[in-house]
Amino acid sequence: MKFISTHDRSHSTTFHDALFQGLATDGGLYIPTDYPVLPDVIINQAKDDSLIQLGQAIMSLFITEIPIHELQNITNSTLTFPIPLIQLEDDLFLLELFHGPTLSFKDIGARFMANALTYFLDRENKQVAIFVATSGDTGSAIAHAFHNMPNIDVYILYPSNKITFLQEKQMTALGDNIHALEVEGTFDDCQRLVKSALLDSDLRKTRLITTANSINISRLLPQIIYHSWGISQLKRLGAANHVTLSVPSGNFGNLTSAIYAKAIGFPIHQFIAATNINAIVPSYLKTSQFIPKPSQRSLSTAMDVGNPSNFERLVAFYNHDINKMREEIKGISISDEETLMEIRDTYERTGYVLDPHTAVGVAAARQSQLTPIIVNATAHPAKFPDVIQRALDIEVEIPERLKVALSRQKQAIKISPQYEALKAVLG
Ligand SMILES: *Cc1c(COP(=O)(O)O)cnc(C)c1O
Repeated sequence: MKFISTHDRSHSTTFHDALFQGLATDGGLYIPTDYPVLPDVIINQAKDDSLIQLGQAIMSLFITEIPIHELQNITNSTLTFPIPLIQLEDDLFLLELFHGPTLSFKDIGARFMANALTYFLDRENKQVAIFVATSGDTGSAIAHAFHNMPNIDVYILYPSNKITFLQEKQMTALGDNIHALEVEGTFDDCQRLVKSALLDSDLRKTRLITTANSINISRLLPQIIYHSWGISQLKRLGAANHVTLSVPSGNFGNLTSAIYAKAIGFPIHQFIAATNINAIVPSYLKTSQFIPKPSQRSLSTAMDVGNPSNFERLVAFYNHDINKMREEIKGISISDEETLMEIRDTYERTGYVLDPHTAVGVAAARQSQLTPIIVNATAHPAKFPDVIQRALDIEVEIPERLKVALSRQKQAIKISPQYEALKAVLG
């Protein structure tokens, strides 16, 4: 399997190079050249397989250059926690993606990327610097996945005062090879700085650099596993036809992975692109105009993205045919009021506490009226105590693994949102 750029499709590269470059040299994003379909028997027996078996089958479709037993090790050491499907109401299911070390779905992609990079670095005796822009959850997942990994330095850029106290603690408290940079600007500024670093040929001369944002294809591929796993679990419960997936979205990496799960053969009827007020993609689906805007602050901060980077991959997947995209993807934007109402409503009906991002997905699922539907539960509510307090006036118990981060000291370097400032830190 090779990977090509969304800009210039004539150049193909290996998984290794796509992983190490992050962004293609022409500024595009890497995508698979094709989407091999899993044989029907595997899809049908998937419901009897384990998460790990399914994961191995899927990863070997896309990553063909790593010996199979090594790829299995990488996959196994990524999927070390359960990903349960919970029935919330009759036809409404939650796929809980937050049982990893930093309590968001991003642990899965981050851990797979860290394991795959380490596999290659060990063999090649090289060092790499990794840049990552974060609106909260990416930074903590990456920091945790890469902490103390030999031969890797990580630079995490996050917007000052725009992430929660817990998120900041999770990514600034580790130290060692994890360098937290507090940017006096927005998430979009952070994302722009990372792109500049990746395209800076001077910097590239001094070291290997890549990004751990979802522009790196190595984060998206393992996410195909859990979308497929959700369908497999639903089959076990007897309902698996015409399943719709509701995906709370910001940079649209998660939704891209969901679309790839359908491409390899999993029976998925439709996708809900559930956003908060940063409704760039829902607006595009409505008006045919893609108009990036400065991101607006919402209660689901990890989805406050004004220029979603994986939009390019979505458009490439549908060959720039917006009508084809509209047949499969429904865009629904949920306001902060609706988010709070959904958290209250679901809690009253079921006793389940939704985090604000998952609440956007559930509210959009209800509005779509499509059933059965699986909503991605993208984070644990304990990460967003202020919103839960405001919606429900209760305190969510903090899981042990989050408490550890809280007891540590913040270590971060403040920088202005100009590229010169980032370069100065890198020396
Ligand atoms: C990152 C994140 C999202 C958005 O995912 P994308 O792949 O960027 O669309 C949704 N929910 C949570 C909790 C997140 O951390």
